[in-house]
Amino acid sequence: MQRIVCKAGNVSIGGGGKIVVQSMCNTDTLDVAASVRQCEALAEAGCEMIRLTTQGLRQVTALGEIRKALHSEGITTPLVADVHFNSEVAIAAAAGIADKVRINPGNFSKDHDVAMAKLRELLQVCKDYGTALRIGLNHGSLGERITSVWGDTPLGMCNAIMEWLRVCLDNDFSNLTLSLKASNTKVMVEAYEFLYRAMQDELGMLFPLHLGVTEAGNGDSGRMKSAVGIGSLLKQGIGDTVRVSLTEDPVNEIAVARMLLKCMEDDSMDAASREEYIVKAGYRYGSGLLAGGPDDFVLQGSIAGRPLSDEEAEDIRDILLQAARRRFTKAEYIACPSCGRTLYDIESVLAEVRKATERFAGVKIAVMGCIVNGPGEMADADYGYVGQGVGKVTLYKGRTPVEKDIPQQDAVSRLVALIEKDR
Ligand code: SF4
Repeated sequence: MQRIVCKAGNVSIGGGGKIVVQSMCNTDTLDVAASVRQCEALAEAGCEMIRLTTQGLRQVTALGEIRKALHSEGITTPLVADVHFNSEVAIAAAAGIADKVRINPGNFSKDHDVAMAKLRELLQVCKDYGTALRIGLNHGSLGERITSVWGDTPLGMCNAIMEWLRVCLDNDFSNLTLSLKASNTKVMVEAYEFLYRAMQDELGMLFPLHLGVTEAGNGDSGRMKSAVGIGSLLKQGIGDTVRVSLTEDPVNEIAVARMLLKCMEDDSMDAASREEYIVKAGYRYGSGLLAGGPDDFVLQGSIAGRPLSDEEAEDIRDILLQAARRRFTKAEYIACPSCGRTLYDIESVLAEVRKATERFAGVKIAVMGCIVNGPGEMADADYGYVGQGVGKVTLYKGRTPVEKDIPQQDAVSRLVALIEKDR
């Protein structure tokens, strides 16, 4: 089986090499000083590739300045431009500014032929400048052309990305990685498994896969979802680069990713901290739970040299069963990690939403930073709290906006009222 290597700057991904740990800044890319500071902190923490929000041409220019400042300090960690909708922006970033560009070509145009033409144009620029590409499709972001045939399903995600991959191959471009993220760990794992098999069976070659559970949220449950989703795939030998996505300081993501990679060598249940124990539990039991295996195990082992207490074991087991979608004992939170598009302090809002809604066991609540990508990416949430503008929020019920443009100070209480009305 041919294993393709993607080269972004001085980092290689895939080909059976070591798994690359990456993260994404949550600064405003136009704030060059703050973005440089966060890149420095990420590089210092061991992050090997850093993505920045690049929604327009001004951000492309800022990305160039950030890269120049980092290089002048000797920090050569590859920078990835995160471009969602505009192929012109992706082309500008690929033309000698970013080491890698992340796109979903389906967002370039609703017309599939136009989107393909724009992708071809971008591929040529990537070839000319030696820029790598990631094609990333998230659950909830598939176009109607795919969902009308396959539904919003793991197989649909796989078939959609295989179409774009064939365009790349037809244009003799292979310097790329692929991702199929979802906040639902079961959907995410199945989508990557389908893709891995499709590459093997149809192409006879394996492109590097970028693994991540998107909108995982924060705290214990955010860590557990990543450990279950990413861990289940790593255990099968699937995955070449990982991003643990937390609604927290992105530096925290690096330690969790490293703990997860360590589990591949040592899957004992003795951990140095609760955080590490959670990651170990997700890695060890997640794949079996997702596959429908028994859930009557008792967590054992130790944290910081003392045996796990019964209460801790029960609590962590609840978090594990919920992350693996086996039993819901608390409300479920889907929260974006925030980025340069975020319109409010998402960490404090998520804490406020959690406090007000934790009692609604099994209800899925999304807290998303922006109206541009938030509604598409919150996939199967029952309710959504989405930043609409500065100080303004729109509340969603499923995919439908039900209270638009409301003042942020009223949004949590109105969200609670909305959920209570439906119960
Ligand atoms: S939903 Fe918006 S704010 Fe949140 S990470 Fe995605 S693009 Fe950034």
